[in-house]
Amino acid sequence: MTKKPKQKKTTAKQPATKYIFIVGGVMSGVGKGVASSSIANLLQSRGHKVTAMKVDPYINVDAGTMNPTEHGEVFVLKDGLETDQDMGNYERFLNTDLPSINYMTTGSVYQAVIQKERNLEYGGKNVQVVPDIPNEVISRIKKAAKVAKADIVLIEIGGTVGEYENILFIEAIRSLKSDHPGDVAVVMASYLPVPGSIGEMKTKPTQHAVRTLGSTGVRPDIIIARSKVAVDRKRKEKIAKFCDVKVENVISAPDVDSIYDIPLHYEEDQLSTRLLETLGLPTRKKADLKAWKKFVSGSKGGHDVVKIAVVGKYFSSGDFVLSDVYLSVLEAIKFSAYKLKLTPEISYLPSQHFEDKKNLKNLKKYDGVLVPGGFGITGIEGKLNVIEYVRKNKIPYFGICYGMQLAVLEFAKNVVKIKNASTEEINPKADHLVIGVMDEQRENIAENNMGGTMRLGAYPAVLSSGSIASKAYRAKEIVERHRHRYEVNPNYIEKLEARGLRFSGKSPDGRLMEIAELPVEDHPFFVGVQFHPELQARPLDPHPLFTAFVKASYEAD
Ligand code: GLN
Repeated sequence: MTKKPKQKKTTAKQPATKYIFIVGGVMSGVGKGVASSSIANLLQSRGHKVTAMKVDPYINVDAGTMNPTEHGEVFVLKDGLETDQDMGNYERFLNTDLPSINYMTTGSVYQAVIQKERNLEYGGKNVQVVPDIPNEVISRIKKAAKVAKADIVLIEIGGTVGEYENILFIEAIRSLKSDHPGDVAVVMASYLPVPGSIGEMKTKPTQHAVRTLGSTGVRPDIIIARSKVAVDRKRKEKIAKFCDVKVENVISAPDVDSIYDIPLHYEEDQLSTRLLETLGLPTRKKADLKAWKKFVSGSKGGHDVVKIAVVGKYFSSGDFVLSDVYLSVLEAIKFSAYKLKLTPEISYLPSQHFEDKKNLKNLKKYDGVLVPGGFGITGIEGKLNVIEYVRKNKIPYFGICYGMQLAVLEFAKNVVKIKNASTEEINPKADHLVIGVMDEQRENIAENNMGGTMRLGAYPAVLSSGSIASKAYRAKEIVERHRHRYEVNPNYIEKLEARGLRFSGKSPDGRLMEIAELPVEDHPFFVGVQFHPELQARPLDPHPLFTAFVKASYEAD
């Protein structure tokens, strides 16, 4: 018996999802992530539902196992995936939370393909690098579009064209474009050097990069021409001619003071219109950039200065200072300062420097001191010295994650006078483990199962009324993102509280100490948080605790 074919319901045709890929040409470090974020921001401001993804070429399954001095900050998504700092930029420019499907590495893609093979999901076929790896990438891109209900998906491909590492991701672009011609646009973020010896802007490296990309079957539709100064008409014409793009699709992207100016700069060259045209989308609706412009104008100087010192261990790399490692922290301070109409002056101080107590008096020049997250033993004596100094000298203090754990430890040592107190992370044999390993983490540590196994992502906390925290948040319950293995040891809470430390934020079951603070009568602002509030600070929505810290820093004598 033959079945009657099911009558298809006639529904209005769904407009096709559009895909924009951003690839790098010439060299890394030209701000491809910020370019992607800015494009996302502009298309969103034109009324589109946009989501942004990053494809990272590393074998690491996630960014959690990469040393921040090599890879930059580890950004934790709401659902707990440890990702690249570009994901933070996307969230900040889009003012939205992104799910873990929006981030992938070579390692995670291969792991999934191999797992499917083990589960016989390929039905006995040979599983091959091509097409199975690009297909996995494409299926994730489509899934991300679905999850976000996005009509435009931005996908940033890590690395630069011509590398072995990202070749399969570029093949994914080619393949998706061949299946969906008209729905895929490719943007190359390139760099135009101005060699000092001749003082002329050179287009040749960009031409080479476009040719290299062309050899993979992919051509750019738009070229973002990064350079020290604006790209002139003559060079735009040259790039257009030799790279086979329309002259109006060469977008000038000179260096700017602040990355938040970039969407506005792009609009001077009508980048969003060029992209919409490329994708066959209507261009009538103009960008609504009111809120963004207001934020940007608030970020321009002319205000009172607030000086914040960030004391961390990851700042030095050879002769260079790396502030990328704490990117979200720095941005969070800025957003709050702008909101308060203050100009933030942020200094990066290596904690090792404060192992010598003579250097502590340098801290007097700062209005506030922040110790961000960290791991391991390096620089912790310096951090403990700093915390003791700012506690005693009543300099506003904000401790994040390790910065909270060390604040609790410092209090235990120097106020409660618990001798031989430590954190289990550093000295598991110490008599008093004021900071101990979380129960559920013991097995992971014993089995060396370290990748993606910390307490990660968003968890709720309950705030005690009247505390600095609850006044800042104006809420009884909050949700914040975490990344840690250790916690305040519950056995010491009574002793710590008896001497004046207050645990003003706890997990709903009361088991985990999420916020520690000193009462305002004792100190103008001394707050430590077990979570990472910086991950949820946004330009258009600054984080209340950062705002409270910056305000207290500005107001303290
Ligand atoms: N090393 C500490 C822990 O694992 C703090 C982690 C952090 O600062 N992100 O608990």
